[in-house]
Amino acid sequence: MYDAIIIGGGPAGLNAAMILGRARRKVVVFDHGQPRNRWAVAMNGFLTSDGMSPQEFIGKGRAELEKYGVELQDKVISTATYSKGSFVVNDADGNVYRSRKLLLATGLKDILPQLEGLEELYGKSVHHCPYCDGWESKDMAIAVYGKGRKGIGQALAMKNWSEQVTLYTDGTRELRRQDMELLHRNGVAVCTTAIKKLVGEAGRLQRIVLENGQEHEQQALFFSTSTQQQCDLGEQLGCEFTSKGVIKTGRLQNSSIPGLYVAGDADRDVQLVIVAAAEGAKAGVAINMELQKEDRK
Ligand SMILES: Cc1cc2nc3c(=O)[nH]c(=O)nc-3n(C[C@H](O)[C@H](O)[C@H](O)COP(=O)(O)OP(=O)(O)OC[C@H]3O[C@@H](n4cnc5c(N)ncnc54)[C@H](O)[C@@H]3O)c2cc1C
Repeated sequence: MYDAIIIGGGPAGLNAAMILGRARRKVVVFDHGQPRNRWAVAMNGFLTSDGMSPQEFIGKGRAELEKYGVELQDKVISTATYSKGSFVVNDADGNVYRSRKLLLATGLKDILPQLEGLEELYGKSVHHCPYCDGWESKDMAIAVYGKGRKGIGQALAMKNWSEQVTLYTDGTRELRRQDMELLHRNGVAVCTTAIKKLVGEAGRLQRIVLENGQEHEQQALFFSTSTQQQCDLGEQLGCEFTSKGVIKTGRLQNSSIPGLYVAGDADRDVQLVIVAAAEGAKAGVAINMELQKEDRK
């Protein structure tokens, strides 16, 4: 029986493992190596590690856990249940593991716009988060992608980073007059024509080709679409979700299920590596305190 099983070895799961390992807890981390930012060339905005590659960050984190005896298993966990005060999880090969506490640090995945040419540029000059990649795109010709009214907020926000911002609604012509006026007043150009494809070289966006044959030179694109949980373990365990599709947690990352904690992008809304790591640390402390209380004679 483990003191704690951690599912997800991104920044949230690894930081929780560090706190619990240092507290001499018997911990295992299961991870199948698909952190949300694996497309990105750099991880920005993390003090002391600004600009480091996501792979290097995870590699360093895993190496730092070695001396604390944390077990790392490169496996997918397919099922998780809670019964009579303990958790039972199964990997995809049918192996069974038990623990007193469980942490879900399984993250989110992004629903990418269905645009030809996007995947080769994603994480290099096509992004979704201005706090992660806005600085690197400053003063560039920036396209913002969002169907219907979805991209309006993002387009206005991007004015922080560049004067040249164009909103592409990709064939949606239903922007309201007030929206058009707001965008115009704030110096955002609008293109409602459907997009045919994105063209770039070596990861750098060069132009957007429209269905009507026109071509617009652009250097970066930020999109505004939606996200999904990376796996359905939260649902399997009966967690409560918010209307934004993330798991509801309390002040110390506790979920509505006793002994089950959730940290990182899978819960809450500021989705940055440093926040995920901090939530992991909070969950680690809370799990250890709960175990201490239960074991006190
Ligand atoms: C393109 C891109 C660029 C980004 N750039 C930045 C940036 O510059 N700076 C920044 O602060 N943030 C950035 N982010 C956001 C950042 O990636 C997330 O905030 C962060 O990764 C969240 O950490 P996490 O530990 O919650 O989840 P993740 O990092 O997504 O890790 C979750 C882990 O859980 C594993 N997992 C999921 N389900 C299972 C399962 N059932 N069994 C086993 N393992 C499982 C996954 O394989 C994954 O390794 C970026 C995001 C994207 C998409």
